[in-house]
Amino acid sequence: MNSGTAHRIIAIDGPAASGKSSVARELARRLGFVYVNSGAMYRAMTWLVLERGIPATDAAAIEELAEHAPISCQLRERDSLMLIDGIDPEPFLREDRVNENVSLVSSVPRVREILVDHLRRYAATNDLVMEGRDIGSVVFPDTPFKFYIDASPDIRLRRREAQGQRDRITARDEADSSRRASPLVIAEDAHVIDSSNLTIDGVVGEIIGRLKLKGLTISR
Ligand code: C5P
Repeated sequence: MNSGTAHRIIAIDGPAASGKSSVARELARRLGFVYVNSGAMYRAMTWLVLERGIPATDAAAIEELAEHAPISCQLRERDSLMLIDGIDPEPFLREDRVNENVSLVSSVPRVREILVDHLRRYAATNDLVMEGRDIGSVVFPDTPFKFYIDASPDIRLRRREAQGQRDRITARDEADSSRRASPLVIAEDAHVIDSSNLTIDGVVGEIIGRLKLKGLTISR
């Protein structure tokens, strides 16, 4: 929770390929806030699980690994970065095997507790734009700045194809929405934006307008 910190948190949640990464990154750039892609952290953990030869169905072994994982979270410029054993796993995070297994690994409660701890620590020292699935509902439920970005399934599928990725987003959404631990939900007080027919700038503009209405002081 962000009580006890004066730092501002903008939570951006939504399903796969809804456009939230592009929007969150651009919003952070415009506001001068730190951008945190929480999905990249779940992907990095999944990559580590697979590298260690652990089946994504073996929750006990995944918990054990997560408990002792050699993770360090840092900032590079105004971007968050999770190093594993000192290595930046970024080049591997979109591999097919990561796409296929990330929802399973993310459903392990202990993995979530450990990563949520890291995510909250960023707020101790920085204003944040953080994107994910449970940022407004679980990670920072007290923030008044919550957005849920959606787009039609057809458009989301086309966006992924255009990125040249094999990603079964419908299956991921289904798994992410139905898991027990912190499922993907629309936080009660989130402002929902359908990005199907909007550009990135259009969505960012709508968010900034809303933030101003909610009293966020924007200095840029
Ligand atoms: O955002 P992205 O599609 O890269 O997220 C990859 C996966 O990480 C999601 O499908 C979900 O299983 C998991 N995730 C999560 N909670 C978050 C962010 C991502 O469970 N806050």
